[in-house]
Amino acid sequence: MGFDDNLFKDKDGSYRLASKAKKVKKGICLTCGEDSTTRDLLYEYNTDDMLLVREYIEDHLITYSNHKSMKAIWCNECKALIEYKVILDDKKSN
Ligand SMILES: [Zn+2]
Repeated sequence: MGFDDNLFKDKDGSYRLASKAKKVKKGICLTCGEDSTTRDLLYEYNTDDMLLVREYIEDHLITYSNHKSMKAIWCNECKALIEYKVILDDKKSN
């Protein structure tokens, strides 16, 4: 970073006005209904959050050996973690 301007760079590389980006991030997201001001949410663009998510998935897959894979579902709009999707290993459960 280090640019002294009012631009906010999105994950896809596009720029928005930082003042507007802040407004989007605060309050309830219209797409997923999550409220970042009242809930402790994880975000896809946040490296620390991604590490937590990867750790959680790894722990889960180790604990539940019949769970084949796990996917983190992120909100398309605010990039907050909505849920984890688990794919069961059919061979092991039958
Ligand atoms: Zn959202």
